[in-house]
Amino acid sequence: MMGRLLSKMAFVRGLRFRFTVAIAIFVSLLLLVIGFFFRQRLEAVLEEQVRQVLDEEWAATKAYLIIHRREAEWRYDPEDAEETLIVKQLQRVYFCADEEGKILDVSPAFEDLGIFTPQQIRDALALNQPFWEERVSDFDAEPYIIRGGLFVDDDNRRYFVAIGKSAAESRRVLEEFTRTYFTILPFMILAGSLIGWFLASRAISPVHELAQAADRISGLNLSLRIPPRNSGDEIDHLIHTFNSMVERLESSFEMTRRFSADVSHELRTPLTSIRGQLEVALFTASTAEQYRDAIIDALEDVEKLGQTIRAMLLLSQAESGQLALQKSVVDLVPVVADIVDQFQIPAEGEQLTLTAEVEGPCWVEVDRIQIERMISNLLSNAVKYTKPGGSVTARCRAAAGQVVFEVQDTGVGIPPAALPHIFDRFYRVPGQKEKQGLGLGLSFVAWIAKAHGGHVEVDSVPGRGTRFIVRLPCAATPEPAVATAGASADQPRELS
Ligand code: ADP
Repeated sequence: MMGRLLSKMAFVRGLRFRFTVAIAIFVSLLLLVIGFFFRQRLEAVLEEQVRQVLDEEWAATKAYLIIHRREAEWRYDPEDAEETLIVKQLQRVYFCADEEGKILDVSPAFEDLGIFTPQQIRDALALNQPFWEERVSDFDAEPYIIRGGLFVDDDNRRYFVAIGKSAAESRRVLEEFTRTYFTILPFMILAGSLIGWFLASRAISPVHELAQAADRISGLNLSLRIPPRNSGDEIDHLIHTFNSMVERLESSFEMTRRFSADVSHELRTPLTSIRGQLEVALFTASTAEQYRDAIIDALEDVEKLGQTIRAMLLLSQAESGQLALQKSVVDLVPVVADIVDQFQIPAEGEQLTLTAEVEGPCWVEVDRIQIERMISNLLSNAVKYTKPGGSVTARCRAAAGQVVFEVQDTGVGIPPAALPHIFDRFYRVPGQKEKQGLGLGLSFVAWIAKAHGGHVEVDSVPGRGTRFIVRLPCAATPEPAVATAGASADQPRELS
């Protein structure tokens, strides 16, 4: 019972039903307006026809009716059948009176319509133009149109003559039209509604297909796409939008999957190593020195583990807006020079030439810790992805209201297909598994640049090298006291 009621409500609320109702209302109103309009037009045309006939009959009356010394007389040839017929026709509804309203002649049919009073006659004559009136017969309740006017005899006496014509035929035509039209009106509305229903069904069926396809898509089969109909309409646009949404969802699912795998790998490696070191110490170490060495090794791995977890937490805080920036105006030149100095030893270890080309001062309003993290991440990547014998250059200069910081290397480069993704969280270029990393470093770089009102660009040729360019807005030169930029930590760090 309840289920039936709910499905009935869903049907009534359905687009198809509402569209059909709208069409039905529209068609009804349109047909009503059209019907009334044509009825008015038909009425006017029919009345005009009667008036034209009356005008012609009036001309005939003038020809056949002679009024002389208050005597009205119809002059025609009784032998002529046609003339006789015309005059009989004119005499059927006919009224004649003198100027004072004294009736000279009146047909019985006119008496049924009502005799003109002397006042009405005087008013009609005063008009100086044809007199028109509609009256209903007392006898058979038929409508009549009356045309009256002035007659003048040889002695210049003025008379009032009126003739009438039944408008019943016109009314009948009008009523017939109205009856027929309003009889077929419900059928036309029904036909309009059926067409509306059919059109709505056709328009909505792709939406149903879309909903069914969307139903089939789950976390396990995100590769499903709805085939476009290539009609270029709104539904195609919807399908396109939906497909790109699923595509984004798929890549985000994929990223999360990869991240889980990476995180577990990143956490498992140091954990296994700590466990191994501690087990070896437990079973084989005999001197305090051996225990000490094992603990130091384990602590190093614990530190690495801590760094990974910190990086993950930090990025999630940064992206959820919980990381407040402590901004101050600093000159980027000494900051860059310091970090480049810190990276000299690892760079030499990889047999790389690391140089800084800086033109100062480069004043920027930044959170120093975050900016150092950004520079370190870029330098660390450059060192990591450049083969021995290559070179890495860090540049910093101010130009056109911007501070431009660049890290250029002669490393492995990034394939063009990977370029749009390298700033995505947890993205790592495939085929570089031997290099350690979580794929978070560049996400940090992009977030830090953006959080400081700047942005980062990349330029890379596979096999030849990569250049990362960070553009930050210039800050106004500060007071000398603020302008000190000291050295940071002693050891180089990749702060992902
Ligand atoms: P990772 O921890 O893997 O280095 P990043 O977010 O720092 O993560 O970098 C994402 C990916 O971009 C890396 O896996 C690497 O393939 C590529 N990449 C970053 N910097 C460079 C570079 N200087 N040269 C070549 N590839 C790079």
